[in-house]
Amino acid sequence: MASSPRRSAGPPRRVDTDERPLVLIWELTQACELTCEHCRADAQPDRHPDELTTAEAEDLLDDVREFGEGQLVVFSGGDPLKRDDAVHLVEYGTDLGLNVTMTPSGTDSLTRDAVSDLADAGLRRMALSVDGATAERHDAFRGEQGSFADTMRAAQAARDEGIPLQVNTTVCQQTIADLPDIAELVTDLGAVLWSVFFLVPVGRGAALRAISPNRAERVMEWLVDGREEWPFGVKTTEAPHYRRVAVQHTDESPQRQMGITAGDGFAFVSHVGEVFPSGFLPESAGHVREDSVVDLYRDSELFESLRDADALRGKCGACQYRTVCGGSRSRAYATTGDPLESDPLCSFVPEGYDGPLPWEEGYGEA
Ligand code: SF4
Repeated sequence: MASSPRRSAGPPRRVDTDERPLVLIWELTQACELTCEHCRADAQPDRHPDELTTAEAEDLLDDVREFGEGQLVVFSGGDPLKRDDAVHLVEYGTDLGLNVTMTPSGTDSLTRDAVSDLADAGLRRMALSVDGATAERHDAFRGEQGSFADTMRAAQAARDEGIPLQVNTTVCQQTIADLPDIAELVTDLGAVLWSVFFLVPVGRGAALRAISPNRAERVMEWLVDGREEWPFGVKTTEAPHYRRVAVQHTDESPQRQMGITAGDGFAFVSHVGEVFPSGFLPESAGHVREDSVVDLYRDSELFESLRDADALRGKCGACQYRTVCGGSRSRAYATTGDPLESDPLCSFVPEGYDGPLPWEEGYGEA
């Protein structure tokens, strides 16, 4: 195994992300009834024949437990409930001492009874996607009439069952104008966290229209201001520059802004057991049928390079915020083929940097 690279001097971390991810996503299946415009998984109607079996899935959760008590595992998809062992696996992981959460799809299969079964199995949080504040806007984005109503029913069921609710929203040209209304809906739903995903152009999401770095900056400033008033927490996905914006616009210290990026505090296991730094960064470190996910996370060359802030290139490599932010490695990969290159969604220009800038190269729409 390669030796651990030197981490660039930066703010101290509460969790040593060289040793364990803060978040491990496991894509139980790519099967899903929806055909969402932004789908990373390019979801399919049927389950893949090479998906991890129930026994292999239990082995994976046993391995994940080696990261430590309370390791957060997100059961994702596709629609994780398309696997008929999904509830069993929630219970299995919970009994191991894992903190199991889930992102089921908003379909008519997500009934009150299904939510109740997940609560009984020990589910710690349910994350539901809301990409429009009205049925018309949400259903158009997700490609399914009735998805908004199914999602609202599931959100209410989660509340009734005492499962904390998270709302996930995609930010792109198609949704940006709706964000203030969606924030109100997140409040009304009683969610504990709003996870705002800044589009990475992979999977079916490659067909969506990315926003420009300047518009992304305005959205992040709005989120930093909004979180002072909203009754829920805010996090961004694939937009770590939110932390840079927070440091610049508030008196918060970089320590409070600790976050995660692909491979550094974050790992993804695919439906067939491949281990990636993120679901949006399709470079495989190995396979859970051959190696422990713990070893792949800690010791693979790919993951180690992504945890070395001094290995970053371009504008991110020259940036004084690279240990607080580091840029989306997934977006860098999607746009350049190099996960260590600059994140083109960022409008910040580091002092003394005179290399290429993303807006000169036409990234995103104003
Ligand atoms: S230049 Fe890169 S590291 Fe610096 S704030 Fe922007 S995305 Fe983050």
